Amino acid sequence: MRPKTKMIHGGITGDEKTGAVSVPIYQVSTYKQESAGNHSGFEYSRTGNPTRHALETVIADLENGTAGFAFGSGMAAITSVMMLFDAGDHVLSTDDVYGGSYRLMTNVLNRYQLQHTFVDTSNAKAVEEAITEKTKALYVETPTNPLLKITDLKQMAAIAKKHNLLLIVDNTFATPYWQQPLDLGADIVLHSATKYIGGHSDVVAGLVAVNSRELAEKIHFIQNSVGAVLGPQDAWLLMRGIKTLALRMEAIEANTKKLVAFLEQHPKVEKVFYPGLENHEGHNVAADQSTGYGGMVSFDVGSEAAADKLLSRVQYFTLAESLGAVESLISIPAKMTHASIPRDRRNELGITDGLIRLSVGIEDAEDLLEDLKQALG
Ligand SMILES: *Cc1c(COP(=O)(O)O)cnc(C)c1O
Repeated sequence: MRPKTKMIHGGITGDEKTGAVSVPIYQVSTYKQESAGNHSGFEYSRTGNPTRHALETVIADLENGTAGFAFGSGMAAITSVMMLFDAGDHVLSTDDVYGGSYRLMTNVLNRYQLQHTFVDTSNAKAVEEAITEKTKALYVETPTNPLLKITDLKQMAAIAKKHNLLLIVDNTFATPYWQQPLDLGADIVLHSATKYIGGHSDVVAGLVAVNSRELAEKIHFIQNSVGAVLGPQDAWLLMRGIKTLALRMEAIEANTKKLVAFLEQHPKVEKVFYPGLENHEGHNVAADQSTGYGGMVSFDVGSEAAADKLLSRVQYFTLAESLGAVESLISIPAKMTHASIPRDRRNELGITDGLIRLSVGIEDAEDLLEDLKQALG
């Protein structure tokens, strides 16, 4: 099945009993057993729920995995995956991971003696040098937020294999439509499904997919033990989102390319960060490991004042955190998502006060272009 068909026919489609073409929302906590211990496969909805199961099956299919898991948020998914490790273990993580992941690793998991070191994973040598005897996993995000840095997943998979580490990939930005990390050698792929997979700014959810039976058993055990599961209504909304994921990603990317071309030639824009640009550091790797460059773009207008002015003038870009929805969003990372990072460190990373991040939506590209043009004018 090709990706676009998978979005429609992957996983479990419809309801065998009634012929309903959409999987019903099984709003239920417990299930009648024929005799004690003899049940239909579902006994209690923390352990398994038919609507959630249908979603878990489709994410496994989309990521070319063998098992999927749905959680109450992206952070719940990441936390549950981290429960695979023991006190004293060490995880090497991409240095510009999502802020919430950084907070979890440095303010919560550290209290359980799970140590994280942050390295530039686009630099294989730096990764190899940071591996210690205690290292159990590489945790990689690609592309990253907000500078869209790219890590070579095949290279990371080779390092992971050599040192017997798990490779965990946060695939939120690329989506399973553009990039399938399990095929590139990752062991675990995860998503904030709140973003592109849901796609309509109306659900908070997390998804995980794996392709080994051993990991599937371990993660299911943790999911059931910890209990951070997704409810059936939200699972259903995500399945609905997935049906149009391919269409949305195509439309979003087409719009993004037009905006990037416009921003690239604008005299008030100092630099544009987009992996689809040939001058982007990670362009070749991105071209090799993914089939699209996505809908996130950042650009530098030189100063806080210029950024503020642009934000106050745009009409169709909603000032908000989050990303990946049908409506275009705009943010200033230095003041919003990355405000907790000290300014010196931010400048070092390139997250300046004049840096603006767009999550491009599916509006008419001409309207978005006109809007940016007048706002920059
Ligand atoms: C939003 C996000 C998360 C966290 O997901 P939530 O659904 O907000 O809990 C993790 N990783 C990335 C890359 C994200 O953008």
